[in-house]
Amino acid sequence: MPDGLAYPDRLSLAQLPTPLQPLSYPTLSERRLWCKRDDLTGCLLSGNKVRKLEFVVADAVAQGADTLITCGGLQSNHCRATALVAAQLGLHCQLVLRGEQPSIADGNLLLGQLAGAEVSYYPVRRYHHHLPELLLEHAERLRQIGRKPYIIPTGASDGVGLWGYIAGAQELAAQLNSLNITAPLVVCAAGSGGTLAGLAAGLSFYCPEAHVLGVAVCDDADYFYRRVQDDLAECARRYPSFSLDKPNNFTVVDDYIGPGYAQGYPEMFDTISTLARHTGVVLDPVYTAKAFYGMLQQLRLDKFSTRDVVFVHTGGIFGVYPEREALTR
Ligand SMILES: *Cc1c(COP(=O)(O)O)cnc(C)c1O
Repeated sequence: MPDGLAYPDRLSLAQLPTPLQPLSYPTLSERRLWCKRDDLTGCLLSGNKVRKLEFVVADAVAQGADTLITCGGLQSNHCRATALVAAQLGLHCQLVLRGEQPSIADGNLLLGQLAGAEVSYYPVRRYHHHLPELLLEHAERLRQIGRKPYIIPTGASDGVGLWGYIAGAQELAAQLNSLNITAPLVVCAAGSGGTLAGLAAGLSFYCPEAHVLGVAVCDDADYFYRRVQDDLAECARRYPSFSLDKPNNFTVVDDYIGPGYAQGYPEMFDTISTLARHTGVVLDPVYTAKAFYGMLQQLRLDKFSTRDVVFVHTGGIFGVYPEREALTR
């Protein structure tokens, strides 16, 4: 395995390495299916965001920040993880959320509130049209009261957060190497794109025969192809010694979004219960269930001939609870 990537500063926040486990899914007997258990990066910090936050929050602390500002949907896993990390490190946290304040907080929102985050709610249209200004307004307001705010973008997907899954790719490559797997298909959900970008760039370096399949849960495939290149370009600007080539080892499919972001469909809910019953692994309804369902469809269509398939379980367990109705139907 090559070394020689110059990683930026990093905090230790996630439980690493996460296990790479075999997964026996009933209808995929001719393949070897593996699960990279990034839902086990922590109990409350469960999921992929904490990998990115190890680098992003290290950058915030190095800049002297005492308040993390970030944004997302009401059930954002990223906002929950950021709020908990802030509490752990003695930092303040301001969340800028998309949607009406619910009468009772549930799932991720409940945990973010328990962690003491201050939460501001914005109507969907205003949020979509004015997110950058809203974040800057909060930063300015906090500066006025003497705080030192640091804005973390949606999903911590930027040139700093990218390192989370470059490091994740290094970790996965070492595990694959010890199993003598050289050319796997590695599947992840694509939301803000940072996981996909980091995995593609990292694996192109650490496991050059791997191919990455990103399953979009919101925007279309073109968006993600552009997004990966943009994030890598930003990374190269920030870190002059950054030496990863633009990866061409990945594919994005956008056929499994359903009605929209965070909106489910019956096959996807069925996937959650089928996998839970057969393996004890529980997927989330916003990201991983769509990614897993999309992966199954792509394999059934024989789009990828790879024998070893690694599903990256990026977490999201707390998103199950707000979907209790659909999941008990
Ligand atoms: C945010 C998230 C993703 C998507 O990761 P991105 O890096 O934003 O593309 C996937 N799964 C879960 C559970 C998430 O919370």
